[in-house]
Amino acid sequence: MLYNFNINKKANSFLVIDVDAIVSNYQTLRSKLTNAHCAATLKANAYGLGVKKIAPALDKAGCPTFFVATLDEAVELRKILNNNRKSILVLNGFLTGTGPICKQYNITPVLNNFCQLEKWVDFNATLEFQQKAALHLDSGMNRLGLDNNDIGRLIKNPHILNKANIYLLLSHLACSDEPESTMNKRQLLEFHSLIRRLPRVMASLANSGGIYLGEKFHFDLVRPGLALYGSVPGHLQSNLTNCISLYGRVLQIREVDKGELIGYGGTYELTKKSRIATIGVGYADGYQRSLSGLSTVFHHSSPLPVVGRISMDSITVDISSLPENELKEGNFVELIGKNFTIDQAASLAQTVPYEMITGLGRRHYRYYNQTKDGL
Ligand SMILES: *Cc1c(COP(=O)(O)O)cnc(C)c1O
Repeated sequence: MLYNFNINKKANSFLVIDVDAIVSNYQTLRSKLTNAHCAATLKANAYGLGVKKIAPALDKAGCPTFFVATLDEAVELRKILNNNRKSILVLNGFLTGTGPICKQYNITPVLNNFCQLEKWVDFNATLEFQQKAALHLDSGMNRLGLDNNDIGRLIKNPHILNKANIYLLLSHLACSDEPESTMNKRQLLEFHSLIRRLPRVMASLANSGGIYLGEKFHFDLVRPGLALYGSVPGHLQSNLTNCISLYGRVLQIREVDKGELIGYGGTYELTKKSRIATIGVGYADGYQRSLSGLSTVFHHSSPLPVVGRISMDSITVDISSLPENELKEGNFVELIGKNFTIDQAASLAQTVPYEMITGLGRRHYRYYNQTKDGL
């Protein structure tokens, strides 16, 4: 094992986050762009992995722009970056009355409807120095952004973009994880047609998957989130590196006779005498219950099947294939990592890597691997 987990006697689990690899993934993504800039989307505490560690590393790597979901996240990020140089954009929109906070922390709202646009214009009119904003145009996802009515009004009053100091028009792809989907082309054409009818400012369409749909989707700025951690659903040849490993402690090992049942519901019956290890990670730690009976943990490179149901705080693993005393109580096994990736776990749990990563929970002790430019 690479890490000396014995330094923490209390820990049931360790989540190891490779910040160097995140930076290297950022550089790989940037190298795919010809003219576009590469932002980073760090909403939900950098997908649960820790914005405090990840944002400064990306800042140092030259990332010019950060997207988050909420104003709270934006303020937190501004304090972490500890300077006003980089743009921080709030995807969830401009909430009434929050103009002064945006100004204080130099936060750029992404305006999501005409009403927000008007409120922003009113707020900006009160300022001596105009604050910039971005505008989200819905190109077919029907989630956030100006709808057709709003866009009609905007096209009749294009000067409002100037008054609002809009520097970026953005839209979001619904199906970038399905490269074959006709929806991608449809949204691309729609976005082109919308921005053509408006004054020329910067444009942004692509999330992680969008980057891999090709240069036509890049425009002036791309906004990867998940790809920073090595995963781009639907695009397998991504050249990105896994950044997340999860290790769980062996709490107990026991010999169990043939015919005995394991765990809640007694769903797993042993067909032979076996050695069963109980590991201190469960669904409350984001090791999803739907992985019951499906997932595999690793001792070095030896696969060990998870047997029986996943509990809130533990799982049971059949370690009979290992030589006796090879794995001992107190040792750690690998639950997620290069042998069993977030993508594999998500796919077996019938969810997406986004949910798997953001669900990894707060109970793990965290190691951040960071050698380059150590902060
Ligand atoms: C979350 C999000 C992103 C990043 O998406 P990934 O698929 O993680 O790259 C980009 N843009 C918007 C509008 C988002 O909501």
